[in-house]
Amino acid sequence: MSSSYAHLLRGKAFLRGQWIDALDGCVFNVTDPAGGRLLGTVPDMGADDARAAVAHAHAAGPAWRALPVQVRAAHLMAWHALILKESEALAALLSAEQGKPLAEARGEVLHGAAYLHWFAEEARRIQGDVLPPPVGGKRMLVTKEPIGVVGAITPWNYPNSMVTRKCAPALAAGCTMVLKPAESTPLSALALAALAEQAGLPSGVLNVVTGDPKAIGTMLATHPLVRKLSFTGSTAVGKLLSQQAAGTVKRLSLELGGNAPFIVFDDADVERAVDGVLRAKFRNAGQACISPNRLFVQARVHDAFCARLAEKSSALQVGRACEPGVAMGPLIHEQALARVAALVDGAVAEGARVLTGGLRLPLDGPFYAPTVLVDVRQDMRISATEVFGPVAPVCRFETEQQVLTWANDTPYGLAAYVYTADMRRIFRMLDALECGMVAINDTAMSNEGAPFGGVKESGFGREGSSYGLDDYLVLKYACIGGLD
Ligand code: ADP
Repeated sequence: MSSSYAHLLRGKAFLRGQWIDALDGCVFNVTDPAGGRLLGTVPDMGADDARAAVAHAHAAGPAWRALPVQVRAAHLMAWHALILKESEALAALLSAEQGKPLAEARGEVLHGAAYLHWFAEEARRIQGDVLPPPVGGKRMLVTKEPIGVVGAITPWNYPNSMVTRKCAPALAAGCTMVLKPAESTPLSALALAALAEQAGLPSGVLNVVTGDPKAIGTMLATHPLVRKLSFTGSTAVGKLLSQQAAGTVKRLSLELGGNAPFIVFDDADVERAVDGVLRAKFRNAGQACISPNRLFVQARVHDAFCARLAEKSSALQVGRACEPGVAMGPLIHEQALARVAALVDGAVAEGARVLTGGLRLPLDGPFYAPTVLVDVRQDMRISATEVFGPVAPVCRFETEQQVLTWANDTPYGLAAYVYTADMRRIFRMLDALECGMVAINDTAMSNEGAPFGGVKESGFGREGSSYGLDDYLVLKYACIGGLD
C-alpha cells in the first residue's frame, strides 16, 4: 500500500521553504496503529527549532500580507486543486498513520480541502467600515488587518482536516504560520506542506515543525512574535497553553474536549436516531470531540431504541483501514484502548449493563468492539468523562426538564444532538442547551461554511464561516480630523 503515497512521504520538517532535520539531528518513528508497522521517521525538534520557525514566519509576514488579496486567494486555490488531485494518496496516508477506514479518510481529505476553497473566496470579503463621527470635520474608518504570526497545534484524530481548517483562514487573512502536528500523525501534515510547496506558497509563509509537544508548545505559547495561538486538543493542554499565552497577551482559539448529549424524545423517528448514533458515535472509532458521549433516551422508546442500536452496532465490520467493507478501525494506541476498557469496566461495576461489545477484539492492534451500555446513570464516572472510543452509554429519562438538567450538567459545552418531531420543543432545546453547536434530527454538522466551536471548558473561537476568519483579524480604527 505504501507505494500509493510514497511520493508524498516527507521525513523532514518544513521551514522557510526547506526540508530540514532537527538542530540536534534527533528523529522519532511514526507507526501504523493497526500492527505497529513503521511508516517513517520525522525530526524530533525542540524549542530552538520552533524559535527559528517563528523567526521565518515573522520574516515572511510583510510580503505575504502586502500581496493583493486575489493573489493570496490564488495560492490557496492552487493548494486546494493539488489536494484534490492527490486525494487518494492523502487518504491512504491518513488511513495508514491514523487507522480510520479508507472511505472515512477520503471524506476527511475532501472536507479539509473545502476550507481552503471557502476561505480563498471569503478573503475577498475582508471589509472595513466608515462610521458616523460625533462632530464635524472628522472621518472615522475601521480596517481589518492580519493579526500576525500564528502558532497552530493540531491533534491526531483528524490529522489532515485540522491542518487545513487552521491554515485556510490564517493564510487568507494574511497571517504567516508555524504548525505543529500531533506526534502520532505528523505525516499527513508534512504531505500537505509538500503540496503547499508545489502550489508555490512563498517560503516561510507556512512552517511545519515536528517533535516535542511540550517544548514546541511552550515556545509557540510564550514567544512574543507569535500573536495568536490556535489549538485543538485536550482541555488539560488547552488550559496550560492559556496560562502560558497570558504572559504575552496572545489571542487564542481553543477547540477542546466535549461531552455531547444525544437526546432522543418519544416522538422521534427512532430508526433515524439509531442511524445518527451509528454515524456520529462509531466514526473514527468514537475519537472525535463532537462524538455523542451520553445518550439520553425517553422512557417510551428506550427499549426499542437500545435493541435496534445494539443490533446495528454489532453488525459493524471492524478491521484494518484498507480492508474492503470496514466500517471502523483501531483506536490510536494501546493506551487509548486501556483507557476505554477501564471506563466500560468501571461503568459495569457501577451497575451498567453491556448490550453488545464491551471487550477488545482479537485482531492485531488496539481494536475495541462497538459497544452499547444501558442502565447508565448521570452520576457514573463514564458520564462525566470524554470517552473518546466506540462506546455508546444510554441513560433513560422521563421528562424534558430532567434531560435538560442532565445534558447541561457538565463543564463542557461543544456539541449536542436532539431527535424530536416537535417544533416548539426544538426551539426550547436550542435556547436551553449550553453548547456551541446543536444538531437537530441530524449529525453532519461540521462543514466549512459553519462556525465550529464550543462554550464553557470546550473552549472559544470558531473554525469555518466568516466568524472563523475574524479570529485571525484585528481591527484598526482611524480617526481623521481637521477636514472642515
Ligand atoms: P490527546 O489527549 O487527544 O492526544 P492532546 O491535547 O494531548 O490531546 O494533544 C493535542 C495536541 O497537543 C497534539 O499536537 C499534542 O502534541 C499537543 N500537546 C500535547 N501536550 C502539549 C503541551 N504540553 N504543550 C503544547 N502542546 C501539547
